[in-house]
Amino acid sequence: MSGSPPSDRTVGSALQSLERRAGAILRARPAYKEPVEFYLTVFRRQIERAAEVCVRPEPVEPEQARQSLREGVPLIERYDPGLDVESLRSLWTEMKGLFRRGNDVLRSVVQRLDEAEHGGRFDAGLWLLEQRPWRPESVAQVAAGLGIGHEALAALAWATTYPHWQRIARSWLPGDRLGEWQRGRCPACAGPVKLAELHGDPPGEGGVTGGARMYLHCAFCGARWTVPPMQCPHCSSRRAGDAKYYFTTAEPELRIDFCGSCRRYLKTVDGDRIEGPVHAYLEWLASAHLDTLAEEKDLVPLECKA
Ligand SMILES: [Zn+2]
Ligand SMILES: [Zn+2]
Repeated sequence: MSGSPPSDRTVGSALQSLERRAGAILRARPAYKEPVEFYLTVFRRQIERAAEVCVRPEPVEPEQARQSLREGVPLIERYDPGLDVESLRSLWTEMKGLFRRGNDVLRSVVQRLDEAEHGGRFDAGLWLLEQRPWRPESVAQVAAGLGIGHEALAALAWATTYPHWQRIARSWLPGDRLGEWQRGRCPACAGPVKLAELHGDPPGEGGVTGGARMYLHCAFCGARWTVPPMQCPHCSSRRAGDAKYYFTTAEPELRIDFCGSCRRYLKTVDGDRIEGPVHAYLEWLASAHLDTLAEEKDLVPLECKA
């Protein structure tokens, strides 16, 4: 049923496939041990709490969704996500507990936040209610005001809001019925693309993958939608030779897809080589070395605005 809480069985199998994939990643890329092990505590909690978070998204009929997408309008621009401040507050408190146990930096960030909240200088619930993927400056402002690290605060906010937005996106866009949407931002929340997932024919000479299916992932709400594999999600170029990629035989399930015309890139995982559903944030986190490689090649992440 669309937008309904996941069942115990779904939770169990999601946890299992997360553990399996994280184990495989750590065997292949042990350098990611610290961040992956910390984030696993966050991902597990998100999966366990997914059934309990409270959201009341405005109902969107399938035809309304299709209409909005045909017009190129993400649903968040037309419909109320129905976030619940108490639910956000409750998960925020839990997530702070995990971050407090993370490392010294995270501990001191949580301590600052606690002081600001107890002193009435910061209302996390109201702030989280207003979080949107196109307002990253809201994180930067609070971080600067409280004298804490921007990245840690962004991670904590994401840890809390994600299960809420995931339920909203699933209610608005059940399944993969998103043929009308071929853009480089999320059809549900208008967030940036974090990762691509490829299925089908293995790449041939020059990267042409005729029968392949390509999905894009939003990490803000967890939505996944299909796009044509040979079209740039940034500049829409379909010119022969513009769709390019880098990969190494040492990491057959990972590659960088980029556009020869606008130089935007996306990290892509081979969905056929991964068991279970792709966890976009885990894959993104454990592939930071590809971002370094892309930077050396003068490529720009797809999610950058300018
Ligand atoms: Zn989204
Ligand atoms: Zn392009």
